[in-house]
Amino acid sequence: MARRFAAASLRRLNSAVECVPYAQVLTPATALDLVRRYDVVADCSDNVPTRYLVNDACVLAGRPLVSASALRFEGQITVYHYDGGPCYRCIFPQPPPAETVTNCADGGVLGVVTGVLGCLQALEVLKIAAGLGPSYSRSLLIFDALRGQFRCIQLRSRRPDCAACGERPTVTDLQDYEAFCGSSATDKCRSLQLLSPEERVSVTDYKRLLDSGSPHLLLDVRPQVEVDICRLPHALHIPLKHLERRDVQSLELLGEAIREGRQGTQEGAAFPVYVICKLGNDSQKAVKILQSLTAVQDLESLTVQDVVGGLMAWAAKVDGTFPQY
Ligand SMILES: [Zn+2]
Repeated sequence: MARRFAAASLRRLNSAVECVPYAQVLTPATALDLVRRYDVVADCSDNVPTRYLVNDACVLAGRPLVSASALRFEGQITVYHYDGGPCYRCIFPQPPPAETVTNCADGGVLGVVTGVLGCLQALEVLKIAAGLGPSYSRSLLIFDALRGQFRCIQLRSRRPDCAACGERPTVTDLQDYEAFCGSSATDKCRSLQLLSPEERVSVTDYKRLLDSGSPHLLLDVRPQVEVDICRLPHALHIPLKHLERRDVQSLELLGEAIREGRQGTQEGAAFPVYVICKLGNDSQKAVKILQSLTAVQDLESLTVQDVVGGLMAWAAKVDGTFPQY
């Protein structure tokens, strides 16, 4: 559906443009054939497996790849596999651990940033097609929308031992990229499974516990900008980033809240902490961190669980008036 709308919008802007929408998911079975039909490829995808898939298809088909990405207030663009320059695998031989990747559904992106990067990407495609050559082969342009600054960094040259474009490539056909990256080839439905079922609680179970008045602490680990949009009033807010760097002030705040919550509870009993975020991915990472911190005074004898599906599940299943963003 979205593809057809995009094609219709483009035709409205310029009726001389020929648009061929493909209402299908790009897969290892279809990618090479599709890429071979065009002279230049622009990667606008939102996940790591698709980036490897498109890269390998472009290398195998001998096509330049104009790659752009955006997250929150930052965007970047580069041209891979152009005139002896590096490919995506030369720069990233191994995919990052799945749990360290922040996607747009979790992290959000400012629409204007994708607009700026999209225009730059179109410009690079046009220059390559017109034989003028791209500006960002072997270099990466980074756009910082908050500071309003562009900066360009040099990329390494082609890796002679690159699995895709090297002298003895091991990628000779397209493979299972979801298995290679350990994550699914979509931005929308990605849900991490870092915790066991006992370490997780559903929004409806949490609601029941909340209504029962049972002592506990709810910890919201979203970035401040999201907490400003909406929050559960009784939650303590400490962004995941602060926990990741073991921020002293944040840990003191947490210790204090736990001490306070423990008052009047049975001594020695494990105190329950529930961690919540937007979608239930960051909350799992936070639980892992809190579990590793229980050796710290005040943070010992806790049971830490995350709320499955986060605040968006809360909005969908418990409180229809809670904003969905
Ligand atoms: Zn390469």
